[in-house]
Amino acid sequence: MQVLYSVINFILLVAIIWIFGKKAILKIFSSRREKIENGLADAERASRTEEEQRAAIEEVARNLSESETETAKRLELAASKYVKTLNEQADKEISVINTDLEESLKSMKFDMLHEVRANVVHKVADECRELFSKEPYLSQFRKDEPVIADMILKMVSLTPGDKVYINSKGLLYVTLISAFKLDPAVTEKIRSHMEKLVAAEGSTISFRVKTDEQCIGGLKLRVGDTVYDGTIDNILWTLLTRLKRSPMDKPDMSADEIKKGIISGLKGLSREIDIYQLGRVLSVSDGICWLDGLTDSMYGELVEFDNGERGMLLSIEPSRIACVVFGKYENIRELSSVRRLGMMADVPVGDELLGRIVDPLGKPIDGKGGIHAKSYMPIENPAPAILDRQAVSSPLQTGIKAIDALVPIGKGQRELIIGDRQTGKTAIAVDTILNQRGRNVICIYVAIGQKETGIASIASILKKNGALDYTIIVCADAYQSAPMRYIAPYAGTTMGEYFMNRGRDVLIIYDDLSKHAVSYREISLLLHRPSGREAFPGDVFYLHSRLLERSARLSEEKGGGSLTALPIVETQAGDISAYIPTNVISITDGQIFLESELFHEGQRPAVNVGLSVSRVGGSAQIPAMKQMAGGLRISLAQYRELASFAQFGADLDQATQASLDRGERMTIALRQDQYKPLDAELQVLIIYTFSEGYADDIAPEKIPEFEDALIKHFKSAHPDLIAVLSKGKITPKTKERLNEALKLFKGSSE
Ligand code: ATP
Ligand code: MG
Repeated sequence: MQVLYSVINFILLVAIIWIFGKKAILKIFSSRREKIENGLADAERASRTEEEQRAAIEEVARNLSESETETAKRLELAASKYVKTLNEQADKEISVINTDLEESLKSMKFDMLHEVRANVVHKVADECRELFSKEPYLSQFRKDEPVIADMILKMVSLTPGDKVYINSKGLLYVTLISAFKLDPAVTEKIRSHMEKLVAAEGSTISFRVKTDEQCIGGLKLRVGDTVYDGTIDNILWTLLTRLKRSPMDKPDMSADEIKKGIISGLKGLSREIDIYQLGRVLSVSDGICWLDGLTDSMYGELVEFDNGERGMLLSIEPSRIACVVFGKYENIRELSSVRRLGMMADVPVGDELLGRIVDPLGKPIDGKGGIHAKSYMPIENPAPAILDRQAVSSPLQTGIKAIDALVPIGKGQRELIIGDRQTGKTAIAVDTILNQRGRNVICIYVAIGQKETGIASIASILKKNGALDYTIIVCADAYQSAPMRYIAPYAGTTMGEYFMNRGRDVLIIYDDLSKHAVSYREISLLLHRPSGREAFPGDVFYLHSRLLERSARLSEEKGGGSLTALPIVETQAGDISAYIPTNVISITDGQIFLESELFHEGQRPAVNVGLSVSRVGGSAQIPAMKQMAGGLRISLAQYRELASFAQFGADLDQATQASLDRGERMTIALRQDQYKPLDAELQVLIIYTFSEGYADDIAPEKIPEFEDALIKHFKSAHPDLIAVLSKGKITPKTKERLNEALKLFKGSSE
């Protein structure tokens, strides 16, 4: 029963809680449901936006990727274009670099081949020594000994030097040197022969016998300073020297080939006796070597040191001789022997040198390979005799108005170009070379003591203008030794003389002789010669006169060739009364004086018309130019005079003002840019136009333009008139035609 009551109580309690808490309970549940529903809705919404977002993102991404590909495409296109232009540019640059590289590779190859060949020659020399010290050569050499002794005795004689020595010392030293101990009969024969020879001079000999392995085979007899050499060593030396000097026909000749050549050469030469004189090195310093012995040697002769370097004798004193060394003097040892070569210094000559840059000994320094010259000529030659010459009568056109009109140069003349530094001296020389194109004139440019860069730029200008083919550049730059600079102009002249003697016209430029004189002063001071004016030795005048006397116009019998010289001299502050300028002015046939002041005013070429003269060239001008030049010179002189008065600010009458104006225009008309040489007939046309007053109304600054237009017009419209001007005088009829054409030109240009 109790259980029933407690069940009824629980039901009643639940009923009461439901009645009173129904609302709250429902609320609790409904809010939960709502929450859940909301949450579900939210979740649904969220999932939906996520999708939307993804879609949106996908769409954006699609859009983006589309524009990206477009941009990428555009970028790619631009890049490919850029790369293409870059490639083109690079190709261009590479081709330039390639040609440069090719040139330098060629020169490197040439240098290397030279070195390799020198090494091979030395190696072969050593090998040959070894080879010759064995059979079958050995017994052959021994068999030849009595034959060689006889040959020597046939040739031996006393030189003037020996006789002088005998007179002063009362005896003569005779030494017999052989590779092996000689048969006593041979030795005795030589001794008695020499005794007899010297007894004839009333004296005796001091006879010595030596063996020297160095000889390899054969024997040699030294009488005083003279050696009668029949040794194999000497033959080897002769062959090797020839090989070293010969052009590199086969630069890659193998050692075996050289060896074969030497062995066959040995056969041809083994029966020859070489006669030479030997001396000793007393001291070496600063490129000067003092020598002992060589009693019969002559001024200017070549000697060879035992290290292969060559030198030239420049001072002969009673007790010693001085020579200048052309190569590296550092390797020459005191007391080493020096051999007289019995010849003067020489250089290769011929057509093979055209278009080349060579050093004063004729060695190529442009890296274009060896020069295969067929002949050599000594650098010092006597000047042509008076009877072998003829008067200067044909013009050498420089193409420069101020020079061809006022200081004309004839073929065979020597015209000095003188002025301070940087006044356009070299420019005139280079323009003159450029103007020889197509005129059958060979040009030689001798650069003395200049910078390598300057010489290189001249060479490139000549090449660019097609002028290198008929030009030789002899280069003794500032880095070469003084002796090289000293011989450079002589070497250049020799190269020119070769062509002159064959009837050709040659133009030679010495740039410049001041530096040449300085090089000689350097040598002379080292040779302990007393210095004279401005510390130059006394014979510097002779130096330049004997050089410039070699310029000439040869007579028809001698072929009619000519050598025209344009020496350049640099002055200090316009001082033409210094030693070298006065010397060279007096040697040459006139001078072109360049002035710094004019140069800086813009009057270029800066020719000072008052101080420049040409003493013979006037007779060599073309007739029309000659006709115009006289008047031009006078009117320019008048202008200068009037201009100096006008400076004082005086009131000028109309006539004076007019002539001042014309003079000013005329002076401007003589200006000329570099590398623009002008034909003589066109120069005449310009001078005519200006002196007849056709340019009086042209503003000074418009004159260059006017000149250009004038030339262009006449070249196209009146080529016949230009031809007339080039041929003969300006006749009244030509004058009429010129005036008419000029009036027409002026009418059309206004
Ligand atoms: P240096 O004393 O150094 O040898 P230089 O007297 O030989 O000098 P150049 O080297 O020929 O003189 O010329 C000097 C400068 O003047 C050069 O830069 C050259 O280009 C310029 N020049 C020479 N002549 C002319 C000209 N007619 N017109 C314009 N410029 C010129
Ligand atoms: Mg110069």
